[in-house]
Amino acid sequence: MELTKKITALLLSAAALSTAIPVSTCADESEMPELISDINDDHALTVQDMVLMSKYLLGSGELEEEAFSRADSNADGSVDTFDLANMRHSYIYNASHTPAGKWEGTGFNGERVFQFDDSETGSVSIPARNVTIPFTIRTNGSKITFALSGGAPASAVISWIDSEHFYLEWDGSKSEYFTYSGNHTIVDTGLELNGNYISNLGDTYSFEKNAGKCNGGPVTVVSKNKEIKFIYGNGTSQTGVYSPVDKYHFTIIWNDGTVEKFTRREIKTSNGLTYVNGILIANKTYSVPQSYDPGGLTGEFMAAYNEMIADAYADGITLWVCSGYRSYSYQSKLYNNYVYTDGKAAADTYSARPGHSEHQTGLAADINSADESFAGTPEAKWLAANCWKYGFIIRYPKGKESITGYIYEPWHIRYLGKENAKLVYESGLTLEEYLGIDSVYSY
Ligand SMILES: [Zn+2]
Repeated sequence: MELTKKITALLLSAAALSTAIPVSTCADESEMPELISDINDDHALTVQDMVLMSKYLLGSGELEEEAFSRADSNADGSVDTFDLANMRHSYIYNASHTPAGKWEGTGFNGERVFQFDDSETGSVSIPARNVTIPFTIRTNGSKITFALSGGAPASAVISWIDSEHFYLEWDGSKSEYFTYSGNHTIVDTGLELNGNYISNLGDTYSFEKNAGKCNGGPVTVVSKNKEIKFIYGNGTSQTGVYSPVDKYHFTIIWNDGTVEKFTRREIKTSNGLTYVNGILIANKTYSVPQSYDPGGLTGEFMAAYNEMIADAYADGITLWVCSGYRSYSYQSKLYNNYVYTDGKAAADTYSARPGHSEHQTGLAADINSADESFAGTPEAKWLAANCWKYGFIIRYPKGKESITGYIYEPWHIRYLGKENAKLVYESGLTLEEYLGIDSVYSY
């Protein structure tokens, strides 16, 4: 039999995928990278590792030094429930991720390449010898079963190191180490959800590495390509298609047709100030303390503003600040004056109560003229079209009065920094909608 035919025969025999090929001849096992949580160091994350971890945590088993360091996945010097959580996360990850694209294995003296076309088909080849044999695969959790035509299937347990490296532990054989080989199918590593979210369906979520809470009850997230599944504490689950919007937003179209829009919302308070996703908020819901005084418009505001008015001037547009920083006491006089003239209900639509004015943050200003005559002027148009490039947004847009709590103010700009201003501008949302917050007085 000529050489090529011999190799073909070898590859065709499914056993060749596992036992017949000397998988470790090219790579010394001791040189293979470590797999996190792989306590028994067999290059596979299996139930045996879970048993070792559980025994140790229950006090009925010891871990010798090297095993201990492999179990200590977060490398904090102790093996504890955080490491157990990491181990569980790896199990879920391994069970929900099959390779895609071209991967170089250490089998067949390092000459063997696996190509995964989709979740069910692919091929194994030895490029130097011009041999390619198609296979089909079936997956069951982290177990992948390969079937080459004409042979008995061979199974392996997959354990991912990261998105570009994994091990296959072949049944009854040694482990084979795989490295992603680029220029082919882009590997979809699936999702990892972290942080706090609210959705348009009124649900609140908090995730840490795909595990978390939905309205206070447990939820686990598994994903594969764009398909995403939420598994709830009561055993029910929901599957849908995930699509990212921007770094703080994504949408899932659930299989029943429901569209759920997720908004990341991290609320932190410090010295009486409220930050949402790092953005200082002053609106009808969130106030700043009476004593808060940044000493005027902030340095960041002024730097961005100076850059903006210079560019505007070059376009034949003259911009100036007609009202910048306003102290608590000044806002108090202003607001009380409006209440005296127009009544409280009317005043609340265009003037903030003291402590609730964005002007007190030193991050907002009124440009040129704070009245209706500004709308539609070349200056207003220039500002609306360009201010985001410098880190500002038109804070109270037209038609959004019920959301922002204020009438349309084409003159009022708020500094957010270039990245956030661009994201908010491109979203077409108000700051409240973008952050998933409201603007309503509680008193
Ligand atoms: Zn203003």
